Amino acid sequence: MKSQDLVAQAILARARAYAPYSGFKVGAALLGKSGAVYLGCNIENAAYSSTNCAERTAIFKAISEGERDFIAMAIVADTDQGCSPCGVCRQVLVEFFDDTVEIHLANLNGVIQSRTISQLLPGAFRPGDVQRNDRREL
Ligand SMILES: [Zn+2]
Repeated sequence: MKSQDLVAQAILARARAYAPYSGFKVGAALLGKSGAVYLGCNIENAAYSSTNCAERTAIFKAISEGERDFIAMAIVADTDQGCSPCGVCRQVLVEFFDDTVEIHLANLNGVIQSRTISQLLPGAFRPGDVQRNDRREL
């Protein structure tokens, strides 16, 4: 799937954003290896910290549907440059993405900047860094 096609789906997802507080609408589209595309939008809440970003909405939908392997994600908002994921989303993406997954940062004017998760979150704390309790010396 071309990056432009995935961005077009993210734009559709953006139209469903629930952003009555900020007015900042974001859409995401996540392409799984199965060929399925999972859409996500930001979902705000009156208790602001309960807000969920578009990227996490998309990946949580995918994981809950049984998809664990991904090809690409597109993220779009009305920004000057490609819409960049927040730090929380970067940490969630690194749980499931390796550097073969293309992350397309897009805006509504046709800008598409492609990145890898290592470029977005260098030195990340990754799943392999977790030490199980039974291996710790207490
Ligand atoms: Zn985020």
